[in-house]
Amino acid sequence: MLNVAIVGAGPAGFYTAEALMRRVGIAVDMIDALPTPYGLIRAGVAPDHQSIKAVDRRYHAVLAGGVRFVGDVCVGEAVTLEELMGLYDAVVLATGAPHDRKLGIAGEDLPGVLGSGAFVSWYNGHPEFADLAVPLAHPGVAVIGNGNVAIDCARILAKTPAELAHSDIAAHARTALAGSVVREVHIVGRRGPYQASFTPKETGELGHLERAQPRVDPADLPDASGDAALEPGLRKVVASLRAFAAAPPAGKPVSIAFDFFSRPGGIERAGEALRLTVERTRLEGDRAVGTGVMRTIECGLIVAAIGYYSAPLGDVPFDAERGRFRNEGGRVADRLYVTGWARRGPSGTIGTNRPDGIEVAERIVAEAVPGGRAGAAGLDTLLHDRGVRPVTFAGWQAIDAAERAAATHPSPREKFARRDALRRAAHG
Ligand code: NAP
Repeated sequence: MLNVAIVGAGPAGFYTAEALMRRVGIAVDMIDALPTPYGLIRAGVAPDHQSIKAVDRRYHAVLAGGVRFVGDVCVGEAVTLEELMGLYDAVVLATGAPHDRKLGIAGEDLPGVLGSGAFVSWYNGHPEFADLAVPLAHPGVAVIGNGNVAIDCARILAKTPAELAHSDIAAHARTALAGSVVREVHIVGRRGPYQASFTPKETGELGHLERAQPRVDPADLPDASGDAALEPGLRKVVASLRAFAAAPPAGKPVSIAFDFFSRPGGIERAGEALRLTVERTRLEGDRAVGTGVMRTIECGLIVAAIGYYSAPLGDVPFDAERGRFRNEGGRVADRLYVTGWARRGPSGTIGTNRPDGIEVAERIVAEAVPGGRAGAAGLDTLLHDRGVRPVTFAGWQAIDAAERAAATHPSPREKFARRDALRRAAHG
């Protein structure tokens, strides 16, 4: 028997486990610091995008098919990576990119300035972020970044309670957003529409919100003659942006303004609120250069949606600049592998992790040899001796059932956002 441990039970881990379980003679344990599996499907994907979350059925089948879930066990605390290497024939790091990139400007540590990872984790009920202070008592919000996460954040801030009714947004966020006075959400991009990282569906969706209207300054749009040469996805994004620019005011109370060519320069307090200074940029090739023209955006909340980096682990070689583990085709060292965002950096959709997972699984099958290591039984003994009680697949199913039972129709689940509540539900 080849014993494999996967650290991280998110999409990247599941695609690796799925590929491994199809082989005979491989036992797989998925270890996660949270009592719940599915990683970004639960804590990252927007709560109003339930169709994307439906992929969890596929991951459920992996657990139902015999891959073990060992939840509520933090590698680096409850058990070290070295210990895992001693217990398993191969270890795969599928730990994602949980940390927010920093803006590197003055004032970014002020209260009210959040990274998108923190903000998204808050509204998605991640237990480490249940008490995050999210100021929603000022009409202005600036979301910095021109990627899909920025759009997710802006959309969640702009939606009505009715528009969130079908979501599984955490109860504390549902309540806070219902009392929000936010009326002007700025999506701040340092470059222009042709350089945006949005995808068509996410951009187009902003044109169909109940109380919010997207706004684009027509002067920020490049000459339309260049659209034909764009990659098809970006062409559709730009078409949506042109439609937003051309749309007459619809009398909606909330605006989502695309502030292109605006480079954040600094943040300062302005009474109870924050003042974000941005410098107008122009493009030199694809690069933004400052023009010296400054303006300010008054807001109560600033969300920096500018990307993520992985958490280093022990002595594992880490590329701090790119925020990911050093690897060659998914191999870090003898018997140690990496997959997903921890391997490539934080880009791509959930499905992008599948080929990654398959490739790493194939490498393991080709390279790893059973070494008579203790595997699952050894890990269970070690955790038991340390008084650590993992959440098993059955425990997760108990959480899942309890959350579904606690939901108010039409929401699919009422997430338990506290670790003790999750543990109670798991252990009975
Ligand atoms: P992203 O797509 O890489 O976008 C990051 C944005 O931040 C870019 O516009 C970048 O601008 C900007 N940025 C970086 N540093 C900055 C700085 N110092 N100041 C101002 N702007 C800065 O990342 P993301 O939005 O975090 O998304 C991560 C991945 O998840 C992406 O692949 C995304 O498509 C995916 N995702 C998908 C969905 C979905 O399919 N529904 C939802 C959410 C996320 P520059 O281009 O100028 O560097």
